[in-house]
Amino acid sequence: MPPPPRAEVVVVGAGLAGLSVATRLVAAGCDVHVLEAAGHVGGRLATDRVDGFVVDRGFQVFNTGYPRAADLDLDALDLGYFAPGAVVRAGGRAHRVVDPRRVPTALPDTLRAPVGSLREKLAIAAFSARAGYWPVPRLLAARETTAAEHLRQAGVGTAALERFFGPFLAGVLLEDRLETSSRYLDLLWRSFARGATGLPAQGIQAIGEQLAGRVGAERVHTGVAVTAVSGTEVATRAGPVRAEAVVVATDPDTAAGLVPAVEAAAARQVTTHYHVLPASPWTEPLIVLGTPGGRLVNSVVLTDAQPGYSPDGRALLASNSLAPTREADVRDEVARLHDVAAADLEHLTTVTVTGAEPAALPPLRHRRPVDLGGGLYVCGDHRDTPSIQGAMASGRRTAAAVLRALRPALATGAA
Ligand SMILES: Cc1cc2nc3c(=O)[nH]c(=O)nc-3n(C[C@H](O)[C@H](O)[C@H](O)COP(=O)(O)OP(=O)(O)OC[C@H]3O[C@@H](n4cnc5c(N)ncnc54)[C@H](O)[C@@H]3O)c2cc1C
Repeated sequence: MPPPPRAEVVVVGAGLAGLSVATRLVAAGCDVHVLEAAGHVGGRLATDRVDGFVVDRGFQVFNTGYPRAADLDLDALDLGYFAPGAVVRAGGRAHRVVDPRRVPTALPDTLRAPVGSLREKLAIAAFSARAGYWPVPRLLAARETTAAEHLRQAGVGTAALERFFGPFLAGVLLEDRLETSSRYLDLLWRSFARGATGLPAQGIQAIGEQLAGRVGAERVHTGVAVTAVSGTEVATRAGPVRAEAVVVATDPDTAAGLVPAVEAAAARQVTTHYHVLPASPWTEPLIVLGTPGGRLVNSVVLTDAQPGYSPDGRALLASNSLAPTREADVRDEVARLHDVAAADLEHLTTVTVTGAEPAALPPLRHRRPVDLGGGLYVCGDHRDTPSIQGAMASGRRTAAAVLRALRPALATGAA
């Protein structure tokens, strides 16, 4: 449906940031229209169907420890959960490193895992307790450094860095030098310590679809690219749309192109290879970490956590590399990580996402201004942290700012 020529608020982009703004403004009674260039809502949370399998555009998970999880109906997403930990491969064997606080029976395996001495393992436990339970302002008040230096200062040893934290965090931060801000690591680790990671039964895109459903189909216009923003008017091929407030909620590069005040951000990329196996080789839903010198940062049987990703009970695997790889480059490595024959792996598809996440180097500038003045607002993960949480939190802040301008009487309650 084409957008109307006038609206009270125009939101450019139906990713989680834009949809988080729109849901709040619609709830406050605003006349909001969301213009989305792509054919689907959810932005970087995108899902395709390939031969009946649910295939996300790049492996990503939802973390119930994110504060903004409160904005979603998690029951309706029908999340399937991963176990809190990972499999570390060393000396030709698979070792479970699982949070014994959550899964007490995993304590003996975790104590035996080759990720450092008992003292170093206690340091990991103390690091997790600090991130999970210190108040956020206290975490953010700590001296900022890189993630690598922060972990070392916490007493995490070389074995744990190389075998556990390195590949585990590389899969989340999409960089393997651990140069990311220690402050972002603290916030991220807090979510892991407090929540569970999972996948919606219909794929990761279901999160955006849930929010878009609250905005209403008549207010979300897919296939409408905004080509310019001038004051409170946006240009599209279908004609201009005038509004009292314009919210640019695109990816950071597009935002920088549309709004000169926004800086482009260095982008992280990832390549995900999807394979099918007749059955899972594992008995619990754990991510398997890549090994030093390998191309993969991790590989995981998605259907162990979320059986809904398979049409027929076969196992669906996702294996991730930071540099673009070809399937033939990683097939043997995938087989080794899961201890299966390479010939049993059926390649389903491969996805490379170049602008997956903006880098979050020190100094972390989260909670960047969202109100640019004159009725123009900007939000997205580049204004907060490079995550689902960051996108939704920036949307929440932006909605509060728009309401302060358009509905001052409501503004306090809507944030
Ligand atoms: C492969 C991958 C793995 C990830 N892993 C995780 C993870 O495990 N956990 C986590 O929390 N986060 C993860 N992330 C990051 C997370 O997905 C993003 O931080 C978040 O989705 C960003 O949301 P956004 O609304 O800010 O931006 P986007 O999702 O990029 O939304 C912007 C929207 O604007 C639209 N748009 C762009 N230009 C225009 C235009 N000119 N006109 C109209 N519309 C336009 C785009 O089509 C898009 O829909 C991952 C991302 C990827 C890609």
